[in-house]
Amino acid sequence: MNLIGRTTRKRYYEDPYLARSEAVVVRRGEDYLELDATVAYPEGGGQESDRGVIHLPDGRAIRFIEAKRMYGHAPRLEGFPDIEVEGVIWHVIHPDDRPVAAKIEAGTAVEVEIEVERRARLTLSHSAAHLVYLGIARYRPDAIAGLFGCHIKLDGARFDFRVEERFTPDVVQSIEAFANALVSRSAAIRVETHPQHPDARIWCCEDARIPCGGTHLRATDAVGQMRVRRKCLGSGKERLTCEFPEARIELGPYRSETATVCS
Ligand SMILES: [Zn+2]
Repeated sequence: MNLIGRTTRKRYYEDPYLARSEAVVVRRGEDYLELDATVAYPEGGGQESDRGVIHLPDGRAIRFIEAKRMYGHAPRLEGFPDIEVEGVIWHVIHPDDRPVAAKIEAGTAVEVEIEVERRARLTLSHSAAHLVYLGIARYRPDAIAGLFGCHIKLDGARFDFRVEERFTPDVVQSIEAFANALVSRSAAIRVETHPQHPDARIWCCEDARIPCGGTHLRATDAVGQMRVRRKCLGSGKERLTCEFPEARIELGPYRSETATVCS
């Protein structure tokens, strides 16, 4: 149970390819709308937030520039990390659209839609980052213990580590080759729900299992062959970046689930 007794239904867990769905306004803040359900993934696990629009019953649409999780909590499950679960999701409204949002009452039926290309790119970057992580865990397990930052961007991803020894060129090459081999064999990706908590998710690929609540591809092949590079951040800190010049951004699987009243 979260602190304020509300939980936003996370439609992106039910179907990561759902781009637009119906919802009801639960609460209006100074700069945000909280809905009873949303397709918008909030910033989390290093993955940037979705953006999109909220369609109003009169046909107007207001833009949201960020989705953020509020009042989440750690699930306290054995063997599962302190990834926040439950909570509510606030859609931060574009400043220019706040005057319109200020007139929306709780109980208003709306439709919420994400920018699909942005979601598709972040999903690909996020999935690719997992593959690189597996390579790091294989060749530099000590670095995993020193991981202190992860950023999933539209066109790449990076990991930051505190390490005693730098990543050698051979190791970077091995990590890259390991990740690219997973891409080459088009390994299936699936997401399991933790048996003791419906909001706790586990990313699974071949024999790897990583607790993660992000959005993911269904298979590795769309990532294409990756490039992994090392950068020294100074004083025992190193960064690995990955880029996906061959990425195949697939918008086809995304779908809407909406009524006909909105334009
Ligand atoms: Zn993930």
